Amino acid sequence: MSSVSPIQIPSRLPLLLTHEGVLLPGSTMRTSVDSARNLQLVRSRLLKGTSLQSTILGVIPNTPDPASDAQDLPPLHRIGTAALAVQVVGSNWPKPHYTLLITGLCRFQIVQVLKEKPYPIAEVEQLDRLEEFPNTCKMREELGELSEQFYKYAVQILDAVSLEERFKMTIPLLVRQIEGLKLLQKTRKPKQDDDKRVIAIRPVRRITHISGTLEDEDEDEDNDDIVMLEKKIRTSSMPEQAHKVCVKEIKRLKKMPQSMPEYALTRNYLELMVELPWNKSTTDRLDIRAARILLDNDHYAMEKLKKRVLEYLAVRQLKNNLKGPILCFVGPPGVGKTSVGRSVAKTLGREFHRIALGGVCDQSDIRGHRRTYVGSMPGRIINGLKTVGVNNPVFLLDEVDKLGKSLQGDPAAALLEVLDPEQNHNFTDHYLNVAFDLSQVLFIATANTTATIPAALLDRMEIIQVPGYTQEEKIEIAHRHLIPKQLEQHGLTPQQIQIPQVTTLDIITRYTREAGVRSLDRKLGAICRAVAVKVAEGQHKEAKLDRSDVTEREGCREHILEDEKPESISDTTDLALPPEMPILIDFHALKDILGPPMYEMEVSQRLSQPGVAIGLAWTPLGGEIMFVEASRMDGEGQLTLTGQLGDVMKESAHLAISWLRSNAKKYQLTNAFGSFDLLDNTDIHLHFPAGAVTKDGPSAGVTIVTCLASLFSGRLVRSDVAMTGEITLRGLVLPVGGIKDKVLAAHRAGLKQVIIPRRNEKDLEGIPGNVRQDLSFVTASCLDEVLNAAFDGGFTVKTRPGLLNSKL
Ligand code: ADP
Repeated sequence: MSSVSPIQIPSRLPLLLTHEGVLLPGSTMRTSVDSARNLQLVRSRLLKGTSLQSTILGVIPNTPDPASDAQDLPPLHRIGTAALAVQVVGSNWPKPHYTLLITGLCRFQIVQVLKEKPYPIAEVEQLDRLEEFPNTCKMREELGELSEQFYKYAVQILDAVSLEERFKMTIPLLVRQIEGLKLLQKTRKPKQDDDKRVIAIRPVRRITHISGTLEDEDEDEDNDDIVMLEKKIRTSSMPEQAHKVCVKEIKRLKKMPQSMPEYALTRNYLELMVELPWNKSTTDRLDIRAARILLDNDHYAMEKLKKRVLEYLAVRQLKNNLKGPILCFVGPPGVGKTSVGRSVAKTLGREFHRIALGGVCDQSDIRGHRRTYVGSMPGRIINGLKTVGVNNPVFLLDEVDKLGKSLQGDPAAALLEVLDPEQNHNFTDHYLNVAFDLSQVLFIATANTTATIPAALLDRMEIIQVPGYTQEEKIEIAHRHLIPKQLEQHGLTPQQIQIPQVTTLDIITRYTREAGVRSLDRKLGAICRAVAVKVAEGQHKEAKLDRSDVTEREGCREHILEDEKPESISDTTDLALPPEMPILIDFHALKDILGPPMYEMEVSQRLSQPGVAIGLAWTPLGGEIMFVEASRMDGEGQLTLTGQLGDVMKESAHLAISWLRSNAKKYQLTNAFGSFDLLDNTDIHLHFPAGAVTKDGPSAGVTIVTCLASLFSGRLVRSDVAMTGEITLRGLVLPVGGIKDKVLAAHRAGLKQVIIPRRNEKDLEGIPGNVRQDLSFVTASCLDEVLNAAFDGGFTVKTRPGLLNSKL
């Protein structure tokens, strides 16, 4: 190493407290950053700036004291080492964690701690001139490594400011080191020149390794591997540029001692390079008719989605290229988005790979880390290609709406580069550092909502909405697809288990509440598991009977006699059925396996007192019914709102109260003291249950009015009515979004009537026929109409003729 130019360190340094050893000037150390204090330091000093090289930290050795409070600054060692932060590696997920590579420059003494929080900053006095350190960095590095074992000793060396003192401290250590070296060399066989060099370096690095012979074998193996690697590079069909890089790297590798950390890095790199499918692809076999049949076979309903996918495939077939928008399936979880993606790959005869993007907030997740980083890796795209082993797979970019953003760059921007047909034939992962052609990859994206997809990405996509399913569709999906799949997975046959449609309906209505079929699938899985146990127990019993010389037939008969009513699993606790009798899953069996129903009481019970109404909410997971509760008490006219509400919803609540106060006389609404001034000596509390979920949006307006009207009139809201709509101060009802999902949710919850804004009437067209038949719709343009529909017999004091109750 050449001598370092003189540097005057800053007089104020941020302090990094490390308990992983003592950093000495001239040596390099890797330290993991996990304390809150150090994390703060790294974030604000190292990650915010653009140039790492200029960042000087004060590194203070610190022995963690478990007894001390982590909040307080521990007593600081007075002498530390100023260090350059050379590298920061790390991620923010699942929790923030960084590793720092730091190089010691010179020592300093703390004059005064200026600030303790969020990380300590101290005024310091430089103790060494940097030129004082000649080219003995290697030695110091060894000392640094040894310092793990000789922590106390190393701290003393750090403290030894005068040269003389320092030599005194270090000489015994060096003597020890040299003795160790000699010992090691004795145990080794004499080898060729080249290898000797390796041996000479290795023991210096790890004095604790004394098993020379074993390592030699390793080396031979390694050498063989390198020869193999070289051969693979020679015969690989990678593009010229990549090939050149590989040839250069392997040359370097051959000259490198294996003990260098870079050796493993370079080798991993080369192994990935030869493994990547530069030129390997599957042959597309696209037959639109076959594709239609396959999509139909794999998926029930979803006609719109299937139609659009087929069109997309047909255009591809004619044009024979992939330029054009990326398909993005948007809908609640469990509606088959992934599954359609998989079918597309199947129809094309391509490999399928899912890349989960939920929570990804670092662009190097997509584009890889530069190879200078220790622990660097390629990004998920290159990794995916390595996994599938061909360059034309179908990549499903799952949950593009859940991409995060962080200081490590914007992953959406990286993704944009991946998806852009103008750029992606030249996609350069930071780790590979040579271009890989992604133009043959077929990308499909999925999301729960378009609201949070970054705009630039959204622009490149064609959105296909996948709505939730109706109960009838779910039953069909269960019987055509989910149940057969579950039976197969559990090794069961229809001769062993029977799930009638009424049971499926019970599962759908009483055990799940979802737009898709994911929980339904899980519940069916639970049933199959329980039955598989019974069947296996039965086989076990039969086997026993066989052994005791009873014929199988007799054994079965015995069972039937023993158990008169074997149909239900709940009645067969201890006993297996003969194989020809399927286990019938009825409601009792359901309760046995899945426990008591989860969704039953709710609606009618919750509406059994005044001050409760049912609203309809839209969430990225589909529509949901939402109870709004109100109560009043003596007070000073305060309004309390709970249930994690957003600002828009709070405004709706204020609007609702104002409107009711101004119409109190008209509707004969009074507070507990008989006053038309509803807030006179009265406080109101409005609550939106499921407080863990943040709720916002204007569409709860009509529900809040209805709920308060019920509270102040003492009348019950009809328990089979749900509603949605924005309100104005003058009592008009304005249109809202998500009508279809909301109506499906009301239907799922078994409600009978839905009140929607009149201007949303056109949205009813998209609702499946059977749902429309089961529900009646009231379209309202003002709050009078809403209240009239929400209360039995109407709400206005004098019921007017011509209610706007239209059955569609
Ligand atoms: P998503 O990606 O939308 O969250 P999945 O594709 O993972 O949902 O679907 C969950 C399960 O439901 C899968 O087993 C899938 O095959 C099944 N499924 C969903 N919709 C349908 C459908 N219309 N027909 C058949 N199976 C379906």
